Amino acid sequence: MKIRIGNGYDIHRLVSDRPLILGGVKLEHELGLLGHSDADVLTHAIMDALLGALSLGDIGHYFPPTDPQWAGADSLKLLAQVDQLIRSKGWQISNLDTVIVAERPKLKPHIQAMRDRLAAVLQLDPDQIGIKATTNEKLGPVGREEGIAAYAVALLTAAS
Ligand code: MG
Repeated sequence: MKIRIGNGYDIHRLVSDRPLILGGVKLEHELGLLGHSDADVLTHAIMDALLGALSLGDIGHYFPPTDPQWAGADSLKLLAQVDQLIRSKGWQISNLDTVIVAERPKLKPHIQAMRDRLAAVLQLDPDQIGIKATTNEKLGPVGREEGIAAYAVALLTAAS
Protein backbone atom coordinates (compact mmCIF):
# COMPACT_ATOMS: atom_id res chain seq x y z
CA MET A 1 0.00 0.00 0.00
CA LYS A 2 1.32 3.42 -0.94
CA ILE A 3 1.08 5.91 1.91
CA ARG A 4 2.26 9.48 2.45
CA ILE A 5 2.40 11.56 5.61
CA GLY A 6 2.37 15.34 5.98
CA ASN A 7 2.42 17.85 8.79
CA GLY A 8 1.22 21.42 9.04
CA TYR A 9 1.51 24.29 11.49
CA ASP A 10 -0.07 27.72 11.64
CA ILE A 11 -0.52 30.60 14.07
CA HIS A 12 -2.64 33.73 13.86
CA ARG A 13 -2.76 36.82 16.04
CA LEU A 14 -5.77 37.45 18.29
CA VAL A 15 -7.37 40.89 17.95
CA SER A 16 -10.54 42.49 19.27
CA ASP A 17 -12.44 43.24 16.07
CA ARG A 18 -12.50 39.90 14.28
CA PRO A 19 -14.61 36.73 14.48
CA LEU A 20 -13.05 33.57 15.93
CA ILE A 21 -13.43 30.73 13.43
CA LEU A 22 -11.81 27.35 14.10
CA GLY A 23 -12.41 24.31 11.91
CA GLY A 24 -15.17 26.21 10.13
CA VAL A 25 -17.06 26.83 13.37
CA LYS A 26 -17.64 30.39 14.60
CA LEU A 27 -17.09 30.63 18.35
CA GLU A 28 -18.40 33.22 20.78
CA HIS A 29 -15.34 35.08 22.10
CA GLU A 30 -14.32 38.70 22.63
CA LEU A 31 -11.21 38.15 20.46
CA GLY A 32 -10.85 36.79 16.94
CA LEU A 33 -8.04 35.82 14.60
CA LEU A 34 -6.38 38.33 12.29
CA GLY A 35 -5.54 37.28 8.75
CA HIS A 36 -6.08 37.94 5.06
CA SER A 37 -8.66 35.14 4.85
CA ASP A 38 -11.01 34.25 7.73
CA ALA A 39 -7.80 33.22 9.57
CA ASP A 40 -9.11 29.75 10.47
CA VAL A 41 -5.82 28.55 11.87
CA LEU A 42 -6.90 24.91 12.27
CA THR A 43 -8.08 24.62 8.67
CA HIS A 44 -4.85 26.26 7.48
CA ALA A 45 -2.71 23.74 9.37
CA ILE A 46 -4.74 20.90 7.85
CA MET A 47 -4.29 22.28 4.33
CA ASP A 48 -0.53 22.48 4.81
CA ALA A 49 -0.44 18.90 6.13
CA LEU A 50 -2.36 17.67 3.08
CA LEU A 51 -0.16 19.60 0.64
CA GLY A 52 2.97 18.56 2.52
CA ALA A 53 2.09 14.87 2.29
CA LEU A 54 2.41 15.11 -1.49
CA SER A 55 5.26 17.65 -1.50
CA LEU A 56 2.97 20.14 -3.21
CA GLY A 57 4.22 23.21 -1.36
CA ASP A 58 2.17 25.24 1.09
CA ILE A 59 -1.05 27.24 1.18
CA GLY A 60 0.82 30.50 0.63
CA HIS A 61 1.69 29.20 -2.84
CA TYR A 62 -1.93 28.44 -3.80
CA PHE A 63 -3.69 31.24 -1.91
CA PRO A 64 -1.14 34.08 -1.55
CA PRO A 65 -2.06 36.66 1.10
CA THR A 66 -1.17 39.37 -1.41
CA ASP A 67 -3.99 38.24 -3.75
CA PRO A 68 -7.18 40.27 -3.15
CA GLN A 69 -9.37 37.34 -4.29
CA TRP A 70 -8.59 35.55 -0.98
CA ALA A 71 -9.45 38.54 1.23
CA GLY A 72 -11.91 37.34 3.87
CA ALA A 73 -12.02 33.92 2.18
CA ASP A 74 -13.91 31.07 3.84
CA SER A 75 -11.05 28.69 4.61
CA LEU A 76 -13.35 25.68 4.18
CA LYS A 77 -13.67 26.64 0.50
CA LEU A 78 -9.89 26.70 0.22
CA LEU A 79 -9.73 23.32 1.98
CA ALA A 80 -12.18 21.91 -0.58
CA GLN A 81 -9.83 23.06 -3.36
CA VAL A 82 -6.85 21.39 -1.68
CA ASP A 83 -8.89 18.20 -1.25
CA GLN A 84 -9.79 18.32 -4.95
CA LEU A 85 -6.11 18.66 -5.85
CA ILE A 86 -5.19 15.62 -3.73
CA ARG A 87 -7.97 13.53 -5.24
CA SER A 88 -6.98 14.60 -8.77
CA LYS A 89 -3.51 13.21 -8.09
CA GLY A 90 -4.95 9.84 -7.07
CA TRP A 91 -4.76 10.08 -3.28
CA GLN A 92 -7.28 9.88 -0.48
CA ILE A 93 -7.15 10.89 3.17
CA SER A 94 -6.78 8.02 5.62
CA ASN A 95 -6.94 10.25 8.70
CA LEU A 96 -6.06 13.64 10.12
CA ASP A 97 -4.86 14.35 13.63
CA THR A 98 -4.69 17.90 14.90
CA VAL A 99 -4.01 20.01 17.96
CA ILE A 100 -5.30 23.53 18.65
CA VAL A 101 -3.29 25.50 21.19
CA ALA A 102 -5.34 28.26 22.83
CA GLU A 103 -5.67 29.62 26.36
CA ARG A 104 -9.30 30.60 25.81
CA PRO A 105 -12.13 30.04 25.04
CA LYS A 106 -12.83 26.48 26.18
CA LEU A 107 -12.81 24.49 22.94
CA LYS A 108 -14.00 21.09 24.13
CA PRO A 109 -17.72 21.88 23.67
CA HIS A 110 -17.06 22.77 20.00
CA ILE A 111 -14.73 19.97 18.93
CA GLN A 112 -17.45 17.68 17.59
CA ALA A 113 -18.96 20.51 15.51
CA MET A 114 -15.51 21.19 14.01
CA ARG A 115 -15.02 17.51 13.16
CA ASP A 116 -18.44 17.40 11.52
CA ARG A 117 -17.78 20.55 9.44
CA LEU A 118 -14.37 19.38 8.27
CA ALA A 119 -15.63 15.86 7.56
CA ALA A 120 -18.44 17.24 5.40
CA VAL A 121 -16.02 19.33 3.32
CA LEU A 122 -13.53 16.47 2.94
CA GLN A 123 -16.22 13.81 2.40
CA LEU A 124 -14.86 11.81 5.33
CA ASP A 125 -16.31 10.18 8.41
CA PRO A 126 -15.79 12.41 11.48
CA ASP A 127 -13.96 9.42 13.01
CA GLN A 128 -11.16 10.11 10.51
CA ILE A 129 -10.56 13.57 11.96
CA GLY A 130 -8.95 13.94 15.37
CA ILE A 131 -9.03 17.37 17.01
CA LYS A 132 -7.40 17.92 20.37
CA ALA A 133 -7.31 21.18 22.30
CA THR A 134 -4.72 22.25 24.82
CA THR A 135 -3.62 25.47 26.50
CA ASN A 136 -0.02 26.65 26.46
CA GLU A 137 0.00 26.79 30.28
CA LYS A 138 0.13 30.62 30.03
CA LEU A 139 3.62 30.37 28.48
CA GLY A 140 4.78 32.44 25.51
CA PRO A 141 2.63 34.40 23.03
CA VAL A 142 -0.12 31.78 22.91
CA GLY A 143 -0.11 31.66 26.70
CA ARG A 144 -0.52 35.45 26.82
CA GLU A 145 -3.52 35.13 24.47
CA GLU A 146 -1.73 37.03 21.70
CA GLY A 147 -2.56 34.27 19.24
CA ILE A 148 -3.88 30.77 18.61
CA ALA A 149 -1.77 28.02 17.00
CA ALA A 150 -2.65 24.72 15.37
CA TYR A 151 -0.76 21.59 14.34
CA ALA A 152 -1.97 18.91 11.93
CA VAL A 153 -0.77 15.56 10.62
CA ALA A 154 -2.32 13.93 7.57
CA LEU A 155 -1.95 10.35 6.35
CA LEU A 156 -2.83 9.75 2.69
CA THR A 157 -3.25 6.47 0.87
CA ALA A 158 -3.21 5.90 -2.86
CA ALA A 159 -6.74 5.55 -4.16
CA SER A 160 -6.90 2.52 -6.42
MG1 MG B 1 -2.85 30.89 8.24
